[in-house]
Amino acid sequence: MTIEKITFSEFQARLKKQGLPKEHLAFKCPMCGFVQSAQTFICAGAGKDFGAVEKYIGFSCVGRFTGAGSSRKEPDGKPCDWTLGGLLSLHELEVEVEDERFQPVFEIASPAEAQALFVLHTASAKAQKSVDEALGFSSDAQVAS
Ligand SMILES: [Zn+2]
Repeated sequence: MTIEKITFSEFQARLKKQGLPKEHLAFKCPMCGFVQSAQTFICAGAGKDFGAVEKYIGFSCVGRFTGAGSSRKEPDGKPCDWTLGGLLSLHELEVEVEDERFQPVFEIASPAEAQALFVLHTASAKAQKSVDEALGFSSDAQVAS
């Protein structure tokens, strides 16, 4: 397997092609192929905002936070427990973070994959909001005294 090495500005340029806010920039796990963004980690309970989950994105598969098992031989659409912090290096992309110092990262998702994930997250956020409203948990509702 060959490892592609890119500069940090190339890395940013590829992410920019997804055309999404930073919470929705998407990566693909090299083991299971699951497309994931910061929002995916927030939904999985890894942290409550971008700053809290930033360190996992493109480095650990979101399955680590959902109790997923190790990756299956064939991708089945579900996340796994892979992390680039392990002893095995099976990644295919490295980004230059300092002169001559490369950091392994997950593959960058295609703009279509990133946008599909964005739509999914937006739809589930809307669904959650309407459930909350139906139950009377409107965020701007005052607590009755
Ligand atoms: Zn995975």
